[in-house]
Amino acid sequence: ELRLTKFTKAFGPVTVIENMDLTVGSGEMLALLGPSGCGKSTTLFAICGIHKMTGGKLYFGDRDVTAVPAQQRSVGVVFQNYALYPHMTAEQNIGFPLKVMRRPKDEIAAEVRRLADLVQIGELLDRRPAQLSGGQQQRVALARAMIRKPDVLLLDEPLANLDAKLRLEMRAEIRRIQRETGITAILVTHDQVEAMSMCDRIALMKDGEIVQLDTPKQMYANPQSQFVAGFLGNPP
Ligand code: ATP
Ligand code: MG
Repeated sequence: ELRLTKFTKAFGPVTVIENMDLTVGSGEMLALLGPSGCGKSTTLFAICGIHKMTGGKLYFGDRDVTAVPAQQRSVGVVFQNYALYPHMTAEQNIGFPLKVMRRPKDEIAAEVRRLADLVQIGELLDRRPAQLSGGQQQRVALARAMIRKPDVLLLDEPLANLDAKLRLEMRAEIRRIQRETGITAILVTHDQVEAMSMCDRIALMKDGEIVQLDTPKQMYANPQSQFVAGFLGNPP
């Protein structure tokens, strides 16, 4: 379980998130959904530790990780632009986090193989990112994010760069991998169809606040404000 309590984030004099509470259940996949600028990425950056929180607490299970540095948090992250290392093969990209930790070569090779099978790119390990399709690159990025067996997986608009067909395919793939591994995950998106089709629950954000948190069905059947109804009804 992941829990944010009274999370507050300010950039200089401007407070963009104030006293946000959010709990993501163990093994749950939660969507952070909302329009551009509402604070989705800011929330992810706080959870992975890239940004320091201005106020509030963050717990992974019973452990207070608010002051724990990013490298020591058990979090895997996939960003919109995948940010694979262009000069490394898929194999080297996936294994890189373990190489940094100076794990033995044979252990790294075995772990890369395990992840490559999970994301189904076993045949492509020798290729560099430029020789892979967008969806294949995304699978490499996922494998790299998960190789340290993180407790939490954070996905910030992971499908934004893909064409429509690939996006549909990767929605199902990411969901399969999340279910198979039972990892607790947060998916950031501004696409309500993506949130509804992939996630157990949706936290809909507006101006730095969660305005409704429900299962996709409940939210669709029972939007609690004009904003929610309008956002769900109008594809971006
Ligand atoms: P998008 O869908 O466009 O990615 P988002 O929901 O991820 O939007 P955030 O990036 O979290 O939005 O930004 C939330 C607010 O915080 C915005 O008003 C943004 O301008 C502001 N903000 C984000 N990063 C900084 C920063 N480093 N300095 C100042 N303001 C920032
Ligand atoms: Mg963002």
